[in-house]
Amino acid sequence: MAFDYFKYLRTENLPHIWCPGCGHGIVLKALLRSIDELKLLKNELCLVSGIGCASRLPGYVDVNTLHTTHGRAIPFASGLKLVKPELKMIITSGDGDAVAIGGNHFIHGCRRNLDMTLIIFNNLIYGMTGGQQSPTTPTGRISTTTPLGNPNYPFDFAELAKAAGATFVARATTYHVRLLQRVITEAIGHKGFSVVEVLEDCPTQYGRRNKLRTPAQMIERYKDLTVSVEAADSLPIEDIRGKLLIGVLHHVERPEFGEQYQRIIDEARRAAG
Ligand code: SF4
Ligand code: MG
Repeated sequence: MAFDYFKYLRTENLPHIWCPGCGHGIVLKALLRSIDELKLLKNELCLVSGIGCASRLPGYVDVNTLHTTHGRAIPFASGLKLVKPELKMIITSGDGDAVAIGGNHFIHGCRRNLDMTLIIFNNLIYGMTGGQQSPTTPTGRISTTTPLGNPNYPFDFAELAKAAGATFVARATTYHVRLLQRVITEAIGHKGFSVVEVLEDCPTQYGRRNKLRTPAQMIERYKDLTVSVEAADSLPIEDIRGKLLIGVLHHVERPEFGEQYQRIIDEARRAAG
């Protein structure tokens, strides 16, 4: 039977604002399937976002939602999680929102290890604000602020998250939709701060400036640009050189911040008699 996406959508907020061919719809579908797979009740969930095209996603989903300010979704979500630890927190954020304006919150969110999931919609550009280069725009690519080619070296979100202390880090693409759903499901199920980087596309601001003429062409290039962590183990080094790994890249267990904080409070109370 076909999956019923509408049971999770606020149909009164449709049609959505996303351009034809935008990758965000594919990520939304994977997220809704993961929520369904985990049998999460709508009231157990909270979707939080900052600003940008990806940050419109919570407005379309019929759960608890919070649309906050640019780059600040993690601190808003952290406050809410500490007050209501029973909520499953999922943050949707673009590449600029998560690691340019929100960069400082990103590294401290990873370090703190509160139980929440950050999904980064990495389309390599600022979409909503007019196609400016973001921290992940590849070197040499064209944006409105790098019309002769980007001279900067891009961030690797996954390596940054791992180095900053995130306890679960995964990467998927809008080409690999089954993997995308699987890693989102695993990330939500993980106890601690989990990061899922999704390589996806903005045909309006990135594709048309960088000779990627159709959304299909944009999605298909991820087939050649990536290799799964499982396959990489058995392939010769020359076959994986220059490719991005996809799948679960890092997974460790560490005490969750909210529980750790509560233990400290309980001990202080006991000591005070
Ligand atoms: Fe998607 Fe880009 Fe359009 Fe924003 S501007 S909705 S990211 S295609
Ligand atoms: Mg972007």
